Amino acid sequence: MTTLTVWGAAKQVTGSMHLLELDNYNILIDCGLDYERNGDASTNEVFPFDPASIDVVILSHAHIDHSGNLPTLLRLGFEGQIICTQATAAIAELLMLDSVNIFLSKQRRKSKRSKKKHHAEKKPLYLQHHVMDTVERFVTIAYNKPFSLNGQISVTLIPVGHLLGAAAVIIDVDDHHVQKRIAFTGDIGRKGAPLLNDPQLLPQVDYLISESTYGGRQHSNDNLEQILIDSITDACIKTPGRLIIPAFSVGRTQALVYSLNRLFAKGILPKIKVFVDSPMARHSTEIYRKYANELSQEAQEFYQRSGDLFEFENLRYVESLEESRDISNFFEPCVIVSSAGMLEGGRIQDHLFQNLQNYYCTILFIGYSAKGTLGHRLLRGDPIIKLRNRELNVYASIRKTDSLSAHGDHDDLMDTIRSQSTEKLKNVFLVHGEEEAMLALQTSLNTEGYTVSIPQKGERIELA
Ligand SMILES: [Zn+2]
Repeated sequence: MTTLTVWGAAKQVTGSMHLLELDNYNILIDCGLDYERNGDASTNEVFPFDPASIDVVILSHAHIDHSGNLPTLLRLGFEGQIICTQATAAIAELLMLDSVNIFLSKQRRKSKRSKKKHHAEKKPLYLQHHVMDTVERFVTIAYNKPFSLNGQISVTLIPVGHLLGAAAVIIDVDDHHVQKRIAFTGDIGRKGAPLLNDPQLLPQVDYLISESTYGGRQHSNDNLEQILIDSITDACIKTPGRLIIPAFSVGRTQALVYSLNRLFAKGILPKIKVFVDSPMARHSTEIYRKYANELSQEAQEFYQRSGDLFEFENLRYVESLEESRDISNFFEPCVIVSSAGMLEGGRIQDHLFQNLQNYYCTILFIGYSAKGTLGHRLLRGDPIIKLRNRELNVYASIRKTDSLSAHGDHDDLMDTIRSQSTEKLKNVFLVHGEEEAMLALQTSLNTEGYTVSIPQKGERIELA
């Protein structure tokens, strides 16, 4: 008997974690941090199963909502291996270590407060040595090559764009001489993304667990290059100001730097200074360089012509905090790319603090900002923003584009699922989306003859 239990990302977008129970063999697909629980130790720390009962973990990609609870799983008794691509292993290590830093800085803030209130201190969810233990469990496999887990089960990873190393997971099971194929889409990227190949179509499967983040929503047809030209022209050339672009350090920053590189190489714009101010961006760029052979044809051709994807004459990576402070007050027009993408923490906050009240500043959003974040408040048009106990008038201009979104939209998700025959595909399980998005996708899929379920968290479903 084979059963599926969705333990995370059920009617929500974080905490991806799916349990496949086969005869005496338990596979956990992803083990992400659940942000809806605020990345809080007390809740992410409790697994609804015994971590020691899991035989193997398969990691679809490195984003922390898919990988970020792996060190906890190990800490609580998991003794198996973690299967993923090489690039995923490298990026996951970087992101999990960054999580440790976030936990520790949260704890420092809390302990300052609790000293005043005499509250007990909470321990961080995991520490650096737990991450290193986790990294030792990675077993990396190539795309599109079936890997045997035991005599009856094999796993294949299929590239799906989204992030370097990201994959859909295909599991082939010989269930008492009945062959079953189960697929998990992971997060599906967009076609024509600046650095990555288009998602590869999945083979025919019996059961499909699909993400649904952008169900019911379409991306705009924004042309990224034109948006960058217009934003730089308006913010830095027509007026001598600065353009601040909040960007997640891994993936989005590399796509942006590569796009700027292409733009300046064409000679359309004068060589305005570009600062990439995020220590983690520097490290993740190294990973993108190392696995450049996995990037799109177009990126590889550009690399052949120009010698580097992520370096150009007027670009500077900022390392030290002093240097970072200096560029906040850099007197020439410039572009500043910094993290965090939703403006919650990171060096971007220094740049905002210095520049929100500056008429000559433009902030260009290139990613999603969740409700409750500073990014969301700025995009909503709040005229006054509270930052570091000060109320700042927002005089900077705000712009946005979704052209660098890492997720496919409704039509992209439909295209992925449509490649499956309605006769052969027994059921589509929707995960990793708000309920509204899932319902929109369900409706479209039902119209085309697919059977679709929206699993409840913890519901055990038999894959007969
Ligand atoms: Zn992702």
